[in-house]
Formats: sequence, C-alpha cells, structure tokens
Amino acid sequence: MAKEELECSFCGRKKPETNLLIAGLDAHICDRCIEQAHGIVLEESKQSHNTELSAELMLRKPQKIKQFLDEYIIGQEATKKVMSVAVYNHYKRLLQSPTDDDIEIQKSNIVMVGQTGTGKTLMAKTIARMLNVPLAIVDATVLTEAGYVGEDVESILTRLLQAADYNLEKAEKGIVFIDEIDKIARKSDNPSITRDVSGEGVQQALLKLLEGTVVNVPPKGGRKHPDQKFIEVNTENILFIAGGAFDGIEKIISKRLNMKAVGYSASMSDDQIDNDNLLQYIIPKDLKDFGLIPEIIGRLPVLTYMNPLDDKTLRAILTEPKNAIIKQYKKLFEMDDIDFSITDGALDFIVEKAVEYKLGARGLRSLCEEILTDAMFEMPGTNDKELKVTKAYAEDKLTKTTLKKLKAVS
Ligand code: ADP
Repeated sequence: MAKEELECSFCGRKKPETNLLIAGLDAHICDRCIEQAHGIVLEESKQSHNTELSAELMLRKPQKIKQFLDEYIIGQEATKKVMSVAVYNHYKRLLQSPTDDDIEIQKSNIVMVGQTGTGKTLMAKTIARMLNVPLAIVDATVLTEAGYVGEDVESILTRLLQAADYNLEKAEKGIVFIDEIDKIARKSDNPSITRDVSGEGVQQALLKLLEGTVVNVPPKGGRKHPDQKFIEVNTENILFIAGGAFDGIEKIISKRLNMKAVGYSASMSDDQIDNDNLLQYIIPKDLKDFGLIPEIIGRLPVLTYMNPLDDKTLRAILTEPKNAIIKQYKKLFEMDDIDFSITDGALDFIVEKAVEYKLGARGLRSLCEEILTDAMFEMPGTNDKELKVTKAYAEDKLTKTTLKKLKAVS
C-alpha cells in the first residue's frame, strides 16, 4: 500500500487527515482513536477501583482494622481504636451516595498528639498500607503562605499525586500525613499582641485543603516549572492525618485539670490524674490554647494521643511487629546463609541504652546497626555461618563514644 493510502483501521481516517498513525501487525490506529481508547480504559479502571475499595471495606470492620494495626504497632491502644473507627467512617462516607438523604457525614480528619518517635508516622503508614491507598508525608514546617519562600500548601497534593503515580482517581482517595502541625501554631493565644503571621497564614491556607475543595495543583510542584499545566485535585475524600509533639502542652492540660479540681470538684484528688501521662486528657481546647486556630481544630475533629514509650514497649518493638528490626536483621543474615540469633540479655541491654541515652524507638535501629555492622561487613564470604549476639558482644561493640555519637545525631 502506498504511504498516503494508509488509513486508521478504527475510524477510517486517511493518513493525511491524522496527526499520527501508528502501525500494528495488520492494522493502524490514529491519534484520535488512541485518545478515545485511553478514555475507555480510564473509565473502566475507575469503576473497578471503586468496587475494590468497597470490597476492602466490607472485609475490614473497625475491629479488623485494629487487628491489622496490632501486627505492626506495639501498644497505643487508645489511638489504634480511635483510628480504626475514624478510618472506617471515612471510607463509609466515601461510599455514601449523595442522593441518600440530607445527612452529610463530616470528614474524619485526625490529629495525633505525642512525642516524636512514638509511632505517629508509623500509624499513618500502616493505615495506608492496609487500605492500599497512596500516602504523602509532609512536614508542616516547610509550608508557607503563597508568595513566601518555602513550599505552598498545594505542594502537599503534588506529593500525593506523585505517590499515586499521577493516578488522579487514586490520589483523591489517598491519605496525607502532615507532620509537625504544632510548629505552625500561633506563638501566643492572643492574636492581637503577638501575631505570628507565617504560622497563622499557613493554618489558613491548610483550611481550604482540609475542608474539601478543588485545588489547582502543579504536577511537578514548585515554581521552577512555570508553564506546566495544572491538575485539578478534589480533596473532599482525602483523609488528612496531622501529627505533632506539641511540646509543653502538658502544662496547658495540667492547668486546666487543676483549675477544674479546685473550681467545682474539690474531692478530685491528684491520684485520679496520671501526672506522668497528661496527654491522655487532651481536649480540642488545649490545641487552641497552644495556638491552633479554631477553624483548623474544627476540620480535624478526631483528636487522639500517643503514649510515651516505656522500656517494655521498646523491648517489644525490637522483636514483635511483623517487620520488627530484629526480624529484618535475621532475614538479612539468612540471605548469606548465616544463622543469626540474639539473647534476651543483649536485647535488654539495647533497650537499657536506648532509655539511658534517650534515643527512643528510632534509636533502636541505630544501636542495632552499631552492634551488627562489623559482623555484616566481615561474615559474608567467610565460612562462619553462625552469629550469636550476647550481652557481652553488644557491650563490646557499643562503646561510650559510639553512644555519645548516637545521642548527638538523635
Ligand atoms: P513519630 O512519627 O511519632 O515521630 P515514627 O512513627 O516515625 O514516630 O516512629 C519512629 C520509629 O520507631 C518507627 O520507624 C518505628 O519503627 C518505631 N516505633 C515507634 N513507635 C512504635 C510502636 N508503637 N510500635 C512499633 N514501632 C514503633
């Protein structure tokens, strides 16, 4: 066939009438037909994704969600329970058809308060893993109001799009974890005296995303690509989880509790209040007193707290979760046919050092790394096929200098 006689086997357009004609084995397809076919594929996958999600939900009732969280996260019972319900309700809301009735279910965006390293990020990651939805983790401290140096809040959605491989459908049902939300608090509760413009401005900008709106998102983020086309992202079904340490909020809680005790319940004695873990009594008003604006608090209606990690929890974190650190090392050594084991004495020693040097759960990995690096360097390729880490072995590898170094980087 002469070149100019070629035509699209789908619509019959002659080659000169098309922008592009792609040849197959016995057929050709033009650019327009490709676009149409692509649309059909997208539509199909959209429908199958919706059924997937509802099937997932049918399978996972709140108690099942909690069981899943239990596999990866030690302790934090209260938060796991609250999260399971919030996530379940969030996705129930997603399945609700708009014509049902006039009852509109509010979003169950969540705010988690707890010291760093207590598992807030892990909680968000585990939920996303369970639901198989994309997750974007962003740090509130880098966010600024539009026009200032830093990232616009829209960049949060750019990250989510990236996490979803630019599948808009998926991104719009994803999860955003905003870390360090406390760092954008107003510095003083009295807006008229010290107005921390940047913090409050970012809170205002975030509001828009949290409440559900359509945002024009630059797919590659930033202002470096001025001519990129915007993608419209609807945030209505995106679950936002915010986390923060809220350093010093205990004082606010304690003040409130004590005032109450003196005010109208003189019989409320101190022993009813667990002073070592005041976060468990947190209420939304405490967040407001800390400097979050009421509108933000209103858009994060589920408030929960993380317990500080005691040595028993740290010990469990080493060995119990599905992908516990020790299990990971065992697997790494196994790949070199090395039988790795560690004694209870050595594990207790690691925990003891993590507590003594205030390294928290994150420090557990660095401690293990220090203890095992020599073995991981030397053993592969030798005939040595067994490694038993005892307390003495661990003590030998963890010198005071090493511990100080770990403390300095933590
Ligand atoms: P945060 O976000 O609160 O600062 P992370 O979720 O980043 O804390 O936790 C740091 C690390 O500590 C995680 O990678 C995880 O391995 C471990 N960790 C912390 N808390 C727990 C927990 N309750 N159960 C299991 N692992 C935990």
